[in-house]
Amino acid sequence: MDTSMKIQTAAVHGGTRKDDTFGAINTPIYMTSNYRIPTDGSPVDWSGINSNIYSRNRNVNQMVIQDKLCAITGAEACAVFASGVAALAGVFITFLNSGDHAVVSKVCYSATNLLFKKYLNEKYNIEVTFVDTTDTEAVRSAVKSNTKLIHVETPGNPTTGICDIDEVSKIAHGSNALLSVDATFAGAVCIFPLKHGADLELHSMTKYINGHGDSLGGCVMGKAELINQIKELAMVNFGGILSPFNAWLISRGLITHPLRMKQHSESALAVAEFLEKCSAVRFVCYPGLKSHPNYDRAVKLMNGQYSGMMSFDIIGDEKAHQKFLDSLKLITHAVSLGDVESLIVYYDKNSDKLPYYPEIYRKGFFRFSIGLEDPDDIIKDIKHAMETCGIL
Ligand code: PLP
Repeated sequence: MDTSMKIQTAAVHGGTRKDDTFGAINTPIYMTSNYRIPTDGSPVDWSGINSNIYSRNRNVNQMVIQDKLCAITGAEACAVFASGVAALAGVFITFLNSGDHAVVSKVCYSATNLLFKKYLNEKYNIEVTFVDTTDTEAVRSAVKSNTKLIHVETPGNPTTGICDIDEVSKIAHGSNALLSVDATFAGAVCIFPLKHGADLELHSMTKYINGHGDSLGGCVMGKAELINQIKELAMVNFGGILSPFNAWLISRGLITHPLRMKQHSESALAVAEFLEKCSAVRFVCYPGLKSHPNYDRAVKLMNGQYSGMMSFDIIGDEKAHQKFLDSLKLITHAVSLGDVESLIVYYDKNSDKLPYYPEIYRKGFFRFSIGLEDPDDIIKDIKHAMETCGIL
C-alpha cells in the first residue's frame, strides 16, 4: 500500500478492493460465511487469521476497514470487532492474565470500568487500580511490579481530560507494560496516540469513525505482532467479529471521516465559545478552549482539531435542567456520540458515576456531542431552550 498518501486520500482509496469480475470500482459486500478451500493439497490453517476459510477468521469487508484505518493513521496493523466494547475486551483478555495488574483511567466509559472492576477482577483475578490518568505522577505511583497494562481514554469520556501520552508511554515501557489508548472521543484523525508512544489505539467505531449512527463496531491498531495476538484470541476464538454488512457501512462512513472531523471540530469550537460567554452556563470544558485544564496537552497531542465532544452545565435546579432538555428541538437527548446529528446526555446529580469525576462535575452536567448541523442552528436551539426554562 502507498504509505505516502495524505489522510483524506487514504480515506478515499486506502483498503478498497475493486471487483475484478464485473469491474465495479467499489468493494462489494461479501455476505458469505465460507470461502472455497483449495484442493491442491496445500496445508489449511483452520484457525489462521490470514487465510480465507470462514468469516470468523477473516472477511474481505473487515479487511477494507483495517487497511483504510492503517493508511489513515500510519498504524502497522488493525483488528476490527462487532463493537467498541468487544475491541476493549479483546485487548484486555489478550494481554492480561490472572495475577496481573492494570492501571486504568478512573474517568472512562462505564463498560470499561465495569469490565475491570467486576468481571476481570472478580472472575479472573486481574487486579486494577483506577487513577486520574491526566495526572502523570498518579499513574507513575500506581504502577506495580505486576503491572502489564496501562489503559487510558483521551479525551476522556465524559470530562474530556487529556492524558500526556508521551510521558505515560515512557512509564509503561519502563515497567514492561503496554499502554492502550481509547481515543474514541477524538476519532482517528484528531489525535495519533501511536505516534506518541502508545502501543495500542482503540476506538468505538460506532461513533466518529462510522459517524452516521447506524452501526456498531470497534477497532484496535498497533504493531502487527500485538494485533495478530488479539486477532487470534479475540476474533477467531472468542468470536466477536464485525459482520460484512456493518463493515461495509463503516468503511463507507470512514471515507468522509477526515472531512467530518474538520467540521465537527470547527462547529464545536464555535458552540464552546458561545457557552463560555453565556451567563446561563456554570462551566464548559472543551479541549479547544484555553480554559480547558489540559489545553496545552491538547495543543501538543491533537492536530489543531479538537473534535466535537464537550461537557458543560447550566445554572438552575434539577427542574430547570429537565426543562432545558425537554425544550431542545434540534439536539436530541440520547446516548452515544460522534453522530451526524447533535446528541446530548444528562448526568444528573444522583448518577453513580459522579464521584469519579472532578469536583465541578458533581452537581450534574451535560455531555454534548456536536453534530454536523450548522453551528448557528445549534446555538439557536440552546438559546431557545435556555429562554424557555427561564435561565436566559
Ligand atoms: N469507548 C468509549 C470512549 C465509548 O464512549 C464507548 C461507547 O460509548 C465505547 C468505548 C464502547 O463502544 P460500543 O458502544 O461501540 O461498544
